[in-house]
Amino acid sequence: MSHNVFAFRCKTCGQVSYPKHTICPKCRGETFEPQEIAGEGSVLTYTDVYALAIDYETRYLRLAIVELDDGMRVTGQLLDDSPRLGKRVRATIGVVRETAGTSIYGLQFVPA
Ligand SMILES: [Zn+2]
Repeated sequence: MSHNVFAFRCKTCGQVSYPKHTICPKCRGETFEPQEIAGEGSVLTYTDVYALAIDYETRYLRLAIVELDDGMRVTGQLLDDSPRLGKRVRATIGVVRETAGTSIYGLQFVPA
């Protein structure tokens, strides 16, 4: 089973948004095409979130904003015990949460 996460490229001006907007923030266009989020980038910032929903089985989530090499900035879970700003990471897809017997997949980053 393969999983991908997609950003959305405006068909009018090429602006890439993630998550998807209803209207392009740059040109107000309303038609988009999916663009797979993949590859490597650099950590812009990260934080550990301790105030989680009660059904999380982890103590905290480490989240990062990563600037991918194509210039897109995306948020995802950072799987790194020694994070630092500027560190090179690779985008991947994995289980970010298990709830009521269902696996929820999302964007994750691992050291490149
Ligand atoms: Zn646009």
